[in-house]
Amino acid sequence: MDHFELNNGVLHAENVPLPLIAAEVGTPVYVYSRATLTRHARVFRDALGVLRNAKIAFAVKSNPNLSVLKVLAAEGYGADVVSGGEMERALAAGMAPDGIVFSGVGKTAAEMRRGIEAGIGQFNLESEEEGLELAEIAASMGKVASAALRVNPDVDAGTHGKISTGKAENKFGVPFDRAAAIYARLAGTPGLNMRGLTLHIGSQLSKLEPLEAAFTKVGGLMEEIRAAGYTVTHMDLGGGIGVPYKTGEVFPQPEEYAAMVARVTGNWGVTLMFEPGRVITGNTGVLVTEVIRVKDGASNPWVVVDAAMNDLARPALYDAWHDFVAVEPKGETFTANIVGPICESSDTFAMARTIDKVERGDLAVFRTAGAYGATMANTYNSRPLVPEVMVDGDNWAVVADRIDPATILAAERVPEWLA
Ligand SMILES: *Cc1c(COP(=O)(O)O)cnc(C)c1O
Repeated sequence: MDHFELNNGVLHAENVPLPLIAAEVGTPVYVYSRATLTRHARVFRDALGVLRNAKIAFAVKSNPNLSVLKVLAAEGYGADVVSGGEMERALAAGMAPDGIVFSGVGKTAAEMRRGIEAGIGQFNLESEEEGLELAEIAASMGKVASAALRVNPDVDAGTHGKISTGKAENKFGVPFDRAAAIYARLAGTPGLNMRGLTLHIGSQLSKLEPLEAAFTKVGGLMEEIRAAGYTVTHMDLGGGIGVPYKTGEVFPQPEEYAAMVARVTGNWGVTLMFEPGRVITGNTGVLVTEVIRVKDGASNPWVVVDAAMNDLARPALYDAWHDFVAVEPKGETFTANIVGPICESSDTFAMARTIDKVERGDLAVFRTAGAYGATMANTYNSRPLVPEVMVDGDNWAVVADRIDPATILAAERVPEWLA
């Protein structure tokens, strides 16, 4: 459920008509609904209420906008960060350092040092080598870093290959059969407080079974580690729950997910940690775009919009689907290809899709663009960096400026020897 609905024939974000935002900010522009964000955050948190001891660290990479993080901080969310930049954002949003988990497959020494300094709650270690380096840095600072070991459970998440992370051939975590030995080695290293295991098998998962299989497998590993005399107090189950991008698709509900987790982990006796991203932010945003023109095509007309793969990369990266609807639908449809202006054939949002009839100057939106949308934007083809707006009831504000090509050009230097 979201708060992007037609009101008197015009698509609104909560109480604000999208044409108003488009007129004042220009297009393309991401528009987030605060009510939708809060609702999703609460539904997920309340669903996990059936678990005795659950902590949620929002996966910042899905939507790192500072205002989005502020809303989630106010809902009691911590953060799962994968870079020093994301850590600084989470801290800037007022998230408690203790509630921040530092994931990521290539943490640098500088990032680890800064994380220890800031007092972040847990480092999710991707390898023995990383654990030993973290231990050394912590010890040299006279500190002890809390950490969990990321295990690669070798389970097929059944999602797109580029967002699958839990198969043996993926770069993430340590091999399942070596994990107990690595845990033992790290647990005995000064500077480290090894407190648990973590896993994350992929994103946009449409079924609970792969998650259940992975949790069960890692639960067995936890028992093995305990039997060897080591302590496990925290188990971080990652994120990955998918959301429907096409009208009519059915995905696991947070209550079903929580019931499955309760069934599998009932006797673990640990603090459970979760790292949801997309399921919290996916539906909270749309990308508003204007039709530049409709161009005749060999089989279908080309709807050329002013948003492109640099603003919303998912279709180009993952062949992803985003529903495309007119802001002021005329009640007619046609079959068309939707493309952006970038000089590359991958700049295609949809082929031969039946959509609202649109023409030059019409506004439309790509739905479910709140996760992995603006955060992946870039300036390819020397296009501006897309701005972001948040709506709250009747209120709205620009929460990230459009950064125009002139600003980017101004950061470039021509060396004297070229001048
Ligand atoms: C990307 C990521 C997540 C969030 O994934 P979603 O599919 O958005 O829920 C959680 N944990 C880690 C380690 C990640 O890399």
